[in-house]
Amino acid sequence: MRCADCRDAVNAFVDGELLAEEQRDVREHLATCADCRREHEVLVATSRTLKEGLVRHRAPDVLKARIRSALAQPDAFAPAASPPRRSWMRLVAAGIVIAAASSGLTVAAIHNPFTQQNATSDVLASHIRSLMPGHLVDIASTDQHNVKPWFNGRLDFSPTVPRLEEQGFPLVGGRVDYIGGRPVAAVVYSRRQHLINVFSWPSTDHAEGLTASTANGYNLLHWRAGGTERWVVSDLNAAELRGLITLLQRSDSAGRPLGS
Ligand SMILES: [Zn+2]
Repeated sequence: MRCADCRDAVNAFVDGELLAEEQRDVREHLATCADCRREHEVLVATSRTLKEGLVRHRAPDVLKARIRSALAQPDAFAPAASPPRRSWMRLVAAGIVIAAASSGLTVAAIHNPFTQQNATSDVLASHIRSLMPGHLVDIASTDQHNVKPWFNGRLDFSPTVPRLEEQGFPLVGGRVDYIGGRPVAAVVYSRRQHLINVFSWPSTDHAEGLTASTANGYNLLHWRAGGTERWVVSDLNAAELRGLITLLQRSDSAGRPLGS
């Protein structure tokens, strides 16, 4: 058996999918070739990590879905020009990414239910997903008296839905989204051609002042006050988003939505 054949077969070998005689050929080659043996060991270790990571600590469905869609993208892990033969190294690379992602997130999930970093990527993913056709709102309405009651029975809390049309942020609607393993409220506003997601959910963590970050060209602003976690995400500029946040905070501290 040549090294190239061994590398093609070793994935199936580790998975126990080879016929007896094929297994014997691979085993014989591994016994004599240090290079292939090393690659086989990496694959075995990766496979073990994967199994432990995915079975003992189940990755959240959102993560699985995200990894699946990442793998489905042709350029996710592939080099610019793919070699003609089946590249098991690419499968190993994908496996390592999955193992690292799931075990990393699992460890994070055990020690800290929902880290800021997880929150940032979850919130950003929700925002981008909401921009896909048909995903923006479950209830489309410019009237807060339609949007706010719509959340009743869909969430275990009642998000504030202030009317900010006169301040230049017309309400677009609302939807229930899923962030950090829990359903959250997403209230959508617009500003010229920009869409703004305002995410909120209850939190028992200590209050935190406004922090701003950017990712993939989007501005993400976060604060926590009055037992509520808030995220505002948009491609609108940070200055105007801060203006919106001032309005939201004012309506929060008023204890009731503006205009109601
Ligand atoms: Zn070899």
